[in-house]
Amino acid sequence: MAVLVKNATLVTAEEERPADVRCRNGRIAEVGRDLEPATGEQLLDGTGQLLLPGGVDPHVHMALPVAGTVSADDFESGSAAALAGGTTSIIDFVHPERGQDLLEALRARREEARRAAADYGFHMAITTWGDSTAEQMRQCLAAGVPSFKIYLAYKDTVGLDDRDVVEVFAAAAAIEALVLVHAEHGDMVEHLRDRLAAAGHTEPRFHAESRPSWLEGEATHRAATLAGTTGAALYVVHVTCRESLVAIEQARVAGWEVRGETCPQYLLLDDRVYETDDFEGAAYVIAPPIRPVGHQDALWQAIVAGTLEVVATDHCPFTMAQKELGRDDFRKIPGGAAGVEHRLALLHSQGVVTGRIDRRRFVDLVSTRPAQIFGLYPRKGAVQVGSDADLVLWDPAATATISAATHHHRTDRSLYEGFEVTGAATTVLAGGRVAFADGELRAEPGAGTFLERHPRRTS
Ligand SMILES: [Zn+2]
Repeated sequence: MAVLVKNATLVTAEEERPADVRCRNGRIAEVGRDLEPATGEQLLDGTGQLLLPGGVDPHVHMALPVAGTVSADDFESGSAAALAGGTTSIIDFVHPERGQDLLEALRARREEARRAAADYGFHMAITTWGDSTAEQMRQCLAAGVPSFKIYLAYKDTVGLDDRDVVEVFAAAAAIEALVLVHAEHGDMVEHLRDRLAAAGHTEPRFHAESRPSWLEGEATHRAATLAGTTGAALYVVHVTCRESLVAIEQARVAGWEVRGETCPQYLLLDDRVYETDDFEGAAYVIAPPIRPVGHQDALWQAIVAGTLEVVATDHCPFTMAQKELGRDDFRKIPGGAAGVEHRLALLHSQGVVTGRIDRRRFVDLVSTRPAQIFGLYPRKGAVQVGSDADLVLWDPAATATISAATHHHRTDRSLYEGFEVTGAATTVLAGGRVAFADGELRAEPGAGTFLERHPRRTS
């Protein structure tokens, strides 16, 4: 199957220029000016539109078991929502049971992802440390999973003590694998949660109070320091606050390979979302929580300065019926929210249209940089001959209002309900096939393939 995209302005992380792009057999076959359509080729007219490499969201959780329930989007629905918003690749996680063989957990997770409509890869969570873990990490690398996630919170389920954190960093450094960290001081968070609940403070707003920014900053500083000391490369997921930015900047000054990611919810919302007397605040129960006013500007400045290199989503939706599990106790609210569909539109609106970043940086943050950091470039994140034909025709002037009534996420709440956005994907090609066009989803369940990734040092 062949497609020719004509008359659009190509925007990559490096340049912006008029270019036509020919796709054949799922790959980009030609990039140039005034390309002539060949017989049987589908023609897509991009007049007045931008042509971007498909978005890469390296932080999503489809069908994740949390607090006695499972996140509401499975791989099929979640990847379809991603495609509708211009994201053509996702990286999800494998969460092995403690003691479970990592490769066995990977096989089971790959099975769960079989009906994904977009390409998908995985990070491997290390939830415990044992004699064979280092060897199993090596095997993960060979199986196309060169990045490992550790949690400094949630020690009762998936989190690690510092002693094991050091083991993971040392093992990752030995095989040049990247470590992702969820940075919050878990023991202190548990202490605050229990103290608040014991005092009768059980409403959703106390979720935020139990996880203050300085406990994230402390854990970011600790992770960066330990990773730097062992020589491991570190990627701090969902950075939300000034304290963490300072820690990342200090680590970089020390010459350590430490990178930061943030998400639209931390850039665009502040903790007033929790100020409701009813249970609506539960929709915003995510970890780390939405921060007080002030942190958002710091995050934007860090994007401009390059301290934060990726905007991902931490997509992990729950319905309000699921959030009800914590009606009487915020500690039991499943934490997570939807986001994978609106990442590009939100960042385009609040980043590009406002003048904070240019279009090339926009593409870099949502596609090219994550592809590079996670070993997918230039197969993904690039518009080059030989790259996968994952392309987004983007109308920079299109306007829309985000609502749970119209989104493709399988949940009845949106963090961005009523937000007006400027910029929208009009046509999305995934592997050379039209997966979304003119507001209509044409994603094919099972069309996505498992992405074998390779370790890549990018500094
Ligand atoms: Zn996450």
